[in-house]
Amino acid sequence: MSRYWSSIVKNIEPYVPGEQPKDRKYIKLNTNENPYPPSPRVLEAIRRAAGEDLRLYPDPDCSELRETAAEYYGLNKNQIFVGNGSDEVLAFSFMAFFDPERPILFPDITYSFYPVYAKLFNIGYEIVPLDDQLNIPEEKLYKSRGGVIISNPKAPTGQLLPISSISKIVENNMDSVVIIDEAYIDFGGESAAGLIDSYPNLLVVQTLSKSRSLAGMRIGFALGDSSLIEALGRIKNSFNSYTIDRIALAAANESFRDEEYFRSVSAKIICTRERTASELKDMGFTVLDSKANFLFISHPDVAARDLFELLRDKGILVRYFNKPRIDSFLRITIGNDSDMDYVLETIKNLL
Ligand code: PMP
Repeated sequence: MSRYWSSIVKNIEPYVPGEQPKDRKYIKLNTNENPYPPSPRVLEAIRRAAGEDLRLYPDPDCSELRETAAEYYGLNKNQIFVGNGSDEVLAFSFMAFFDPERPILFPDITYSFYPVYAKLFNIGYEIVPLDDQLNIPEEKLYKSRGGVIISNPKAPTGQLLPISSISKIVENNMDSVVIIDEAYIDFGGESAAGLIDSYPNLLVVQTLSKSRSLAGMRIGFALGDSSLIEALGRIKNSFNSYTIDRIALAAANESFRDEEYFRSVSAKIICTRERTASELKDMGFTVLDSKANFLFISHPDVAARDLFELLRDKGILVRYFNKPRIDSFLRITIGNDSDMDYVLETIKNLL
C-alpha cells in the first residue's frame, strides 16, 4: 500500500482470477475456457482484419457487429451494446443502473465479480442465501430496492433457472433493472433475450468467450431496451469510445455468421459433460445438474481441497473455492474427450 493510493484503491478487495501457472504444462480446466479453437471462418476473418487498416481507429458504434448481432438475436441494433468481454459490460452496467442509496440483491454463491463491482462503485448490496440444494429461493429476489443480478446458468454451480422463473423475477422488479448474466447459456439453457421486448427493465449479458471459443479476444454484449443500451453507451464514451478493436470486431462479426460451427462445438461439450457427470456419479461423487461447460462436484470421502492439490500434482488444474457452503466442491471445466478421460482415470486412481 502506498500513501499515494486513493481511498478506493486502498479499500478494494480485487477479484482473484483462476490461476494461470507457467511452471509446467497443465490440462487447464479451471477457468471455463472452450477446449476447441474458434471457427476457421473466424480465424480467416482475424487474418484479414490484421492485414487491413489497423492504422485507422475502429468504428466506435460497432455498427456492423451490432447489426449482425441484432439479426442473430431477433432484436434491433439499438437494443445491442458491445463491450470488451462481458466483465466490462457488467462493470458498465453496475455504473449505469445501480445506485449507492438503493441496495441491489444477488445470491450468496454467485460470480465473485458482483460484490467486487458493488464495492468498487460504492453500491449497497444484500446477499440472498441459497437453500440446502444450493438453489436460489426466487421469491427472495422479488421487490428489490435497487436491482438484481444473477448468472443463469448459475456460477459456479451450473444449475439453470427456467425462463418462467426469470420472467417472474423481472416482473416483480419493474422499478429497477434486473441483469441476467448468461455467460454459459449456450450449453443447454434458454436465453432470456426473448423477453426483452416485454420488459424494459431486463438486461441480458452474453459473451463470446465460452461457446464461441474467443476468451482471448474479449467480446461481450448487453441486450436490452434501447434506453438501457443508451445509458451503457454514455458510460462507455466516458471511458474509451474505441473499446472494441478492429480485429475483435471482425472476429465477432464472423462468429455470429457461422452459427453452425459453434452449435456443433457446444453439442460436443454437452455430450462430454453428460458422460463425465455419469462416470463421476459412478465413483460416488455428488454432481450438480449442470447446463454450463463445467461440473460442480463433491465426494463424501475426499476433502475438495486435497483433491484439488492431488490433481494439480498430476498436471490437472481445476477450481477450488475456499468459501463457506461450497468448500466441499470442485468446479471442473469440460475439456475435450481425451482431457476428460485422463481426468477420470486420474481421479479413479486417487480415490
Ligand atoms: N459472467 C460469468 C458468470 C463468468 O463466469 C464469466 C467468466 N469468468 C464472465 C461473466 C466474464 O466473461 P468474459 O469477460 O470473458 O466475457
